[in-house]
Amino acid sequence: MSDTLFTRIINREIPADIIYEDEICLAFNDIHPQAPVHFLVIPKKPIPTLNDLDKDDRQIAGHLMWAAAHIAREKGFAADGYRTVMNCNDDGGQTVYHIHLHVLAGKPLGWPPYTEKLKSKG
Ligand code: 5GP
Repeated sequence: MSDTLFTRIINREIPADIIYEDEICLAFNDIHPQAPVHFLVIPKKPIPTLNDLDKDDRQIAGHLMWAAAHIAREKGFAADGYRTVMNCNDDGGQTVYHIHLHVLAGKPLGWPPYTEKLKSKG
């Protein structure tokens, strides 16, 4: 299977505005920010969707959350607050199939995060 866009960012094959890196994850600014602060925290291990997270990957998933909070503290917006989101598959709005935690901050964020009328499938 060919590498995803995010594996290519990890391998420095395509550029990204990287803001944090350790042995487990990488964080970089989203190319189409949806808030004044919008970055993605991704595992170095290429896991396509949240559904593909194995029991053995639980530490990786927790690490992404820890990294989000760590970066928030370092960048000084932890106390004001922020939102983390992980989209899964089509209905979740996932477009890149390498799991990633969105971190959005820098203004009060609306809730719920969608505007269209609630409609059921089928
Ligand atoms: P998803 O829709 O899968 O939850 O989120 C994918 C995110 O990746 C989107 O917010 C999109 O703007 C971002 N993205 C897509 N391509 C690139 C890219 O080449 N560089 C960066 N930095 N972000 C990207």
